[in-house]
Amino acid sequence: MSQDNESELAPHPHQLRLWGTPGGLSFPSLCPNCGASAMQRITYSKVFRRVLDSDTPNSYVVTSVSVPFCDPCTAQHRAETPTPSIWITLLSSFGGGGDMIGAVVLGIAAAFTGYHAIAELLHLRLLNFVLLSVLTLVIGLFVRAQYKFAWQDTEYLRVPPQSRVTLAFDFSDSTGGAFESVLAAS
Ligand SMILES: [Zn+2]
Repeated sequence: MSQDNESELAPHPHQLRLWGTPGGLSFPSLCPNCGASAMQRITYSKVFRRVLDSDTPNSYVVTSVSVPFCDPCTAQHRAETPTPSIWITLLSSFGGGGDMIGAVVLGIAAAFTGYHAIAELLHLRLLNFVLLSVLTLVIGLFVRAQYKFAWQDTEYLRVPPQSRVTLAFDFSDSTGGAFESVLAAS
């Protein structure tokens, strides 16, 4: 599920708010879930929805943070976050706004020309072999680019939900109100 605004942050009776970019934050070596000494980091992601206007389709941005947690909480997080099956992962790449079907169609075309290039080689028609090989290579480059775009466009579908452990350090993409706490305190 994508997050639309900051009010969707995980509720907690005690909150410490940090402002900054995910890569620019410095964390104390204390586990945010239990307060024990944090020895390793968990990297997890959230999906944020971008709405430009009513005529433009929504876009989704995946943002990741790497937060120190203690060993028992890390183990608990891993137990709560099952690895998705290869089939679910593959199917996800065909969803959303990506065009993985285009990559598959181009892949079939590359296989077709590649097959005929080999046939021409076996018949020693070298000019035809070279032409078909170049064509296969060009189509192959398109397949690679299309696959890459489609995989990136559907990344938001593969972000697993947060575990109870990572909810201890929830984050939003809110950039406004950086002086909010200062104003509230004065
Ligand atoms: Zn912990």
